Order: sequence, then C-alpha cells, then structure tokens
Amino acid sequence: MNISILIVDDSPLTQSQLSDIFIEAGCQIVDQVTDGISAARIYKKNKDKIDLVTLDITLPGKDGVEVLKEIMAFDPSAKVIMVSAMGKDQIIQECLQVGARNFITKPFNKDKILAILSYVTK
Ligand SMILES: [Mg+2]
Repeated sequence: MNISILIVDDSPLTQSQLSDIFIEAGCQIVDQVTDGISAARIYKKNKDKIDLVTLDITLPGKDGVEVLKEIMAFDPSAKVIMVSAMGKDQIIQECLQVGARNFITKPFNKDKILAILSYVTK
C-alpha cells in the first residue's frame, strides 16, 4: 500500500509493532511521535505528506481526543485512526463523532489493521 503514515503513540513497543506492520505492507512512515503537542504540530506542518494518522488515546501533553479535535479543526479531510486499549468504548464513540475514521485496539490483529488501512485510504 502506497500510504504515508504518522504514528502517534507514547509506547515504544506499540510504535514498533505498528511501524513493523506498516512497513511490511509497503507503507511509508512520515514520523513517529510520542506526545500530543508534537503530534498536532507535526500534522499541521506536514499535512500534504501525511495520508493517515494513527493516534493513541492516552498521551502526555495533550491526549488523543484533544489532538484529534485539533487536527480535524485544521483539516476536516484528515484521515485519523484511533489506537486504544480495550474498554474505552465511550471515548472511541466520541472520537468517531469528532471525525476519526476508525479505531484499532490492542492487542493488535495485523489482518484487521491492514483491512482498515485499505478501507480508510481508498
Ligand atoms: Mg499511550
């Protein structure tokens, strides 16, 4: 898949799990960011180079919901997939209402992630 992705997650393990899946699928990683403030700033600076953002919900600085709101206000056509631990259904519903395209939950299912990627970016 020829998709450029910004990965936002404060967990190095999650970062590497996601980047491994994306790189294996032929995607490019634009950047990997570990806090909400940098995430929003880097999206705004590189909007045209980023096809998709994977956005963790629990982040230092600004949480994923705040970052999502900021990105959607800046670029209503942004494609953002939320990343979350299980059991955050209410927050995920809020994110979908704000404009997130989909969500993935940990532990990751590679095939499901790739299906969501191709659906969201087509
Ligand atoms: Mg986190």
